[in-house]
Order: sequence, then C-alpha cells, then structure tokens
Amino acid sequence: MKRKKIPLPNVKKVINLLGGLFMKKSFFTILLVVVFVLSIGAQSPPQKQSAEEMEKNLVLVDKPQAVPDSMRVGCETITADNTMALLTFISSDLLDGRDTASRGYKIAAEYAASLFKLWGIKPAGDMPSARGRFRGMTRGTGGATQAQRTFLQEVVFRETSDVSGTMKLDTRIGAQVKSRTFQSGVDFSMRSSTAESLTAPVVFAGYGITEKEAKWDDFKNLDVKGKIVLILSEAPGKDNPKSPFQKNKKLKEKYFRTAPAMRMARSSRGPSKIQDISKREPALIIQVQNTGKDDTIYKQLAATRRISDERPIITRPRRRLSLPGRTSPMGGGSTPVITITREIANAILESTGKTIDDLKNTIEKNLKPASINLRGTQLTITSTAKVKLVKCYNVLGLIEGSDPDLKDEVIVIGGHYDHLGRSGDYIFNGADDNGSGSVGVLASARAFTVNPVKPKRTILFALWTGEEKGLLGSRYYVMNPYSPIDKTVMYFNMDMISRAYDEQSFARMGRMFQFPGGKDLMKKIRLSDFLTVNFTKGLDDIVREANQYVGLHLFLREAVEGRRGGGSDHASFASVKVPYVYTMAAMTSDYHQTSDSVEKVSKELFTKACRLTFLVSFAAANK
Ligand SMILES: [Zn+2]
Repeated sequence: MKRKKIPLPNVKKVINLLGGLFMKKSFFTILLVVVFVLSIGAQSPPQKQSAEEMEKNLVLVDKPQAVPDSMRVGCETITADNTMALLTFISSDLLDGRDTASRGYKIAAEYAASLFKLWGIKPAGDMPSARGRFRGMTRGTGGATQAQRTFLQEVVFRETSDVSGTMKLDTRIGAQVKSRTFQSGVDFSMRSSTAESLTAPVVFAGYGITEKEAKWDDFKNLDVKGKIVLILSEAPGKDNPKSPFQKNKKLKEKYFRTAPAMRMARSSRGPSKIQDISKREPALIIQVQNTGKDDTIYKQLAATRRISDERPIITRPRRRLSLPGRTSPMGGGSTPVITITREIANAILESTGKTIDDLKNTIEKNLKPASINLRGTQLTITSTAKVKLVKCYNVLGLIEGSDPDLKDEVIVIGGHYDHLGRSGDYIFNGADDNGSGSVGVLASARAFTVNPVKPKRTILFALWTGEEKGLLGSRYYVMNPYSPIDKTVMYFNMDMISRAYDEQSFARMGRMFQFPGGKDLMKKIRLSDFLTVNFTKGLDDIVREANQYVGLHLFLREAVEGRRGGGSDHASFASVKVPYVYTMAAMTSDYHQTSDSVEKVSKELFTKACRLTFLVSFAAANK
C-alpha cells in the first residue's frame, strides 16, 4: 500500500566529517546499535522471592462481593459484549495494525475521539492554534478553555529508515597503511543512525571495566575520550571461581547474564558496564562477544523469525522513530554500541600481532587488565539514512473532578494504542497488545460518565502513540501534560490484559520473575483469572480492595525503588515520580506476531481486568 507523504522535510544525506570534527558533541548523534546488544540489561530485575513472600503477594478472590452502590452502575456498563465490540473494531484488518504515524492509527484515533465526544468526555488534547507549534517543556496546557481543545495531542517524530553503513579500518604497520572496509548487515549491524560519520583512533580496553570491589581497572592510564573503545562483553573469569567477578552475587549479576533475556521486560538493574564506560565520553563502543564464535553473530545478522504456520518469515523494513531533540531512543543516554565479529576485531588488532582471543586469554590467565592504546589504528564509520519528520497523536479526554478542593488533582488512565502495523500482506492486529488495554481506557471512560456518583478528582483518559517505538507518546505527554505533572497523583496503565495463562505461559513467567515452587503455586492459582499488577509502594491496598468486587487472582509486584521500570508507558510516569498501577495478563507465544488476534482473547478475564481498572481508579479518585 502506498503511503501518503506528509509534507515535511525529507532529507537523504551523507555527511563525511573527517578529522577532528567527531569531537564536537553536537555532531554526535550517531546511533549504531546491534540487534542482540539490545538484550543487554533487558531482563526484568531478578528478585528471588521465597515461597512465603510469594504468597503474601498473591490476592486470590474466589467469590466476589457485590459492587458498592457508589460504583455499581458504572461497573455494570463494562460487560463482555461491550468490551469485545470495541476490541473487534480496534483490532480489525481495516486499521492495518495501528502503526505509529500511519493512516490506520489515525482512523483508530478519530474513532476513540468520537466515542469520547459521544459519551460526554471533555477534550484534553491540543488547542487548534497550538498544533504543530513549539511548546515549552514544562508548561502545562491546562490554561485554555475546554471548548478550544481537541481530543488529539500531536506528537512529532523523527523517522529514520533505510539505514546502512560502512566501517573503514586504517591500520599503520611500519611505513605501510592498510585499508579495509566492512559492510553493515554483513559484518556488523547498524540499527539506526542520523546520517553522520565519524573518524577516531581505537583503544583496546580489555573488558572495559572499572570496579573497585573487584580491584579491577581496564582504564588505568588510558584516555578514551573521543576515541573508539574496543571491549569484550561480560567480565573476566566467566568459568573461573577465582575471578574477582565471581566474588559475590552483585558482581555476578552485573557482569554475567543470568536470567533469561525477555524482550518485553525492558527494565534495567542499575548502571551497566556500558553506562559506566559512557561517562568517559568515548565516541563509540565496539564490542566482541566474550564467549561464542563468529558464526553465531552471522546467524544473528541473517536472523529472521522461526517458521511456522502462524509465524511467517517477515523481514520488516527498518524504521525507527524518536522524539526530535532527544539523543537516544533507548533513553539511556549512553554511548552507542556496535557488536562486531572476531574477524573484524582481529583486523583492528593487527598492529599488535595478536588476535582478540590471544589478548583475552592473557587477561584470563593472569586475571589482570591488559589494555592497549592501538597507535596508528583508525576507524571511520559512515552511515546513510533517510530521515524525515512525521506526526501522530495521543488521544486525551477527561472528566472534571466534582470536588472543588480536589479537582486540580489528576488520575490518568492510559494504555498504548499503537502496534506494529503491517508488512506486505501480513497485518499485526495487536488485539491483546494493546487493543485490550486501549479498550480498558475506553470502557473506563464510559463507566465514569454513566456512573451517577462522580469522581472527586479529575480523571484523564489517554491512548498513547509510539509505545512500540520506545514509549514515545507517553514520554511526550509527561513533558507536555494537561496540567502540571506534579498534580497527577496516580497513573493506571494497562498493557496486554486479555489473554489467559496456560501452563506454558505461566511457567515462562515464573522463570522471568523467578518464582520458587512454580508447580505448587500453579495448583493454587486459577490460571484463567490470573493478572499481574505492578505498583508503586502504597497503592496495593486499593487494588486488594477493588479486587474483592471483581474476583481475579492477582500477583502484586511492588516497584523496586531506584530501579528504572521498563516495558510499558508506566515507565514514563515513573520517570517523573508519578505513582502507578500497571496491570498485565499472560504473555503468550502470539506476542508481537500476526497471530495476536481477537478470537484468542479470554473475554471473561478481559472484562474483569477492565472492571478492576475502573474500580481502582474510582477509589483513588474519591479517597
Ligand atoms: Zn504493549
């Protein structure tokens, strides 16, 4: 399908900045990331709990009580018929998988806006005059009169596509200079870039670790500022009990990956090695896998999806979105990392007369750093990309609080509306991810408007764009909120709330969250009614209370303070210190596949999850 072009600058450029220019920070927005590097720090924080602790976090209600009168009418509007009616349209082929900045998404957004209007929800998006204009980072948009607003909040994205690049290696050996060029997608992978180029000398920094506790410093007497740092992944002594990095759990967890990498749990467990190195301001980090052979890297580069009837092989066109003016779509602000093969590493190290494995073995044998300044070795990374600006929308509506003293306080109920779009004839309907959470927002909005008892605090209903591209819509919102963000007292997030667990998906979650005694636990839990609730300290009481009227089996996970929560839009609110509740049901093998479709949904679980949202938010709004 041909896409209508949005009339904004469309730039295709290659800039070759040779010499010292790379030192200039402003030029320095190059972003090169390798597919499997993304899984570094991608695990959910492994928090081993005892079976007893686990039980404390379970809320198992078998016989729900009657919903109190104050909330009954609203709650009763949330029925399986109603939620499924909304979900059937939102996840239909007509919307083409609701990709950010696509026509399908815009239709979905207009649909939600008309429902809001029909139900008497007030618009909380942009004022028509403010559309497209630059607005301050912190100023609330609450000053305008309601009549001027629309339901849409425009978000402009920088779209980068067709990324490719080369890596040119110049090695001076004696009087000779040898040049070789490597190609992205063959020798290394370049995920995204803003069409820049850099040339810098290379430094081999061993494992790239400075760790007092282990009495280890790969950077001693090494200046890496503005240079390209070549390192090995992980840490020395992976299989050596004498290694200082095997000393305690903390070091092991930081440097050796233990938990299974889960794509969905994009949270971090404290500063990683890469973030530590970034503080030294190198131009780029290139990494060689500590263990493993080149062929695994080649396989990764050529990787497509597993073949099965429901999982067609789809090579998706590479397209990345970011908020203009922010450095990293990953949010970490750390130096870009490329993972390279041993073949390139050996070429880079040629002037030393040693291979990467020689150097590694020396470090491993002596358990001592052995960094080298590679004089006469220089890399030039050049990338090309199509970069343009595109726009999309958050959908925002509200019900004003009824209490004059409390109406300034806002409770936001949200979920991401975007999904993965389509690829050729294949459409990613995203019924569960996150048609379900979007319906949760709409169904709650309807329940609040119908319920005779009104909320004391203001409730804002939000459907986010750009979540699949890095939580972009919600990040934009917290920087451009309806009213100053410190007035937002709670955020309720829903992401994938419609699929029931089976034994397989439950076991997978058990591994992810490190449940002890998974089998025994499974006997106690009604898998068809099981929902995970992540929350900020202090919000569990209202969840427990609300569930008395819903009858779900809940697993409560309190957010660990100081840890950056990831994975969904609650992280945007957490980053500006807004307390949150975040519900999620089963993660199945249909996750991010074309098979995530409406007929797989458990309408009973889905409806209960929507009711829980309404009841928790109502309680929070009237506390
Ligand atoms: Zn999602």
